[in-house]
Amino acid sequence: STADCPLLPVIGGDLQVPLVDGSETRYVNLDYAASSPALDVVARHVTEVLPLYASVHRGAGYASQISTAAYEHARRVVGDFVGARQDDLVIFTRNTTDSINLLASIVPGETVVLDIEHHANLLPWVNANARVVKAADTLEETLKRVDAELAARPAALLAVTGASNVTGETLPLRRLATIAHRHGTRLAVDGAQLVPHRRVSIAFDGVDYLAFSGHKTYAPFGSGVLVGRRDWLDFGEPYLRGGGAVTQVSLESTTWRTGPARHEAGSPNVIGVAALARAIQELAALDISAWEAHERALRERLVAGIGGLPGVRIHSIFPDATDAVGVVSFSVDGVDSRLLATALSAEAGIGVRDGKFCAHPLLERLGITGPAVRASFGVGSRLSDVELLIAELSRFLEHGPRWTYELVGGHWVA
Ligand code: PMP
Repeated sequence: STADCPLLPVIGGDLQVPLVDGSETRYVNLDYAASSPALDVVARHVTEVLPLYASVHRGAGYASQISTAAYEHARRVVGDFVGARQDDLVIFTRNTTDSINLLASIVPGETVVLDIEHHANLLPWVNANARVVKAADTLEETLKRVDAELAARPAALLAVTGASNVTGETLPLRRLATIAHRHGTRLAVDGAQLVPHRRVSIAFDGVDYLAFSGHKTYAPFGSGVLVGRRDWLDFGEPYLRGGGAVTQVSLESTTWRTGPARHEAGSPNVIGVAALARAIQELAALDISAWEAHERALRERLVAGIGGLPGVRIHSIFPDATDAVGVVSFSVDGVDSRLLATALSAEAGIGVRDGKFCAHPLLERLGITGPAVRASFGVGSRLSDVELLIAELSRFLEHGPRWTYELVGGHWVA
């Protein structure tokens, strides 16, 4: 099967890591949803552009000109990749959290959010002017609830996740946009877990704002993106105040720029942005059906392989969700998720995430009381990574850990 090979090579794909018994093994990274590894081409690109790195928008020298051109070129690459409209702004930030906080700082009115969100798409809103709608037991019913909420009381913005960081389930963006627009509400999408896995077109889907992170999109160099409608962004208060965001300053008055510079004061992360643009060029060149088939093959194998193991519960928000990306979380009855994750790492070199995934209200609604385990993957993953997790998990469930671990200060140690 083609899923045996990575779709795109990533750096660290053959990393050797120590095991608890003193031996070494290949690191199996199943934690792409937290931070994905850099593509090989991204790592190479960064070393190539570094000698030409200089201050952007500020210097007259050759390297400054090249860096400025690269930074502005990256805006076009990113905008094209997500299907931005002609008039949309592409603003570079630090990460998704930063992008959503920026949006929350300029939204002219109330925002409606669901209770299934990552904290990054919850806390910026609930600490401002927001209403939280509880998701229903099905996606269909949830869409009706959102429609009813917006009909009952107008809101400026509906902010939803594109794909859940806990279950991988995607939301129907086009339908959400139609519902929102019917009530004069705009749609913002937290694309942190969607953009790394799917070809998104905000123009086609009618998404007004999209936020995502470079470090989850194969470019871990500290860049983030907010793309969307220019009017609110040009009218809103500058998100960061300082050099580069102004056209004129005296001690009495300041004239703020419009466009992306309005919210990007200070020296920007040109290397991070160049890295992201390079990653995106690589994703844009992927054959869409090959990309989706690769991740679907891994997800289906994982779900089939662990779903049947005794006591394993794979988490899902919506039983009627028809699509999900490469993010799967699960709990095992009577098994401490933290111990399981520790043993997978110490005994087999498998890196998964355990915890509450910065989505406490969602875990509560799913009835998950303790931490859960999350496995996530992407274009650098292989079917054998997933096979190893299935084999190790079933071995653990049958025989328990190979080693003895003891709980020290909330952590399991060998
Ligand atoms: N939203 C979702 C759905 C996420 O998965 C994450 C990262 N776990 C974030 C937002 C926050 O992203 P960042 O940490 O890059 O700001």
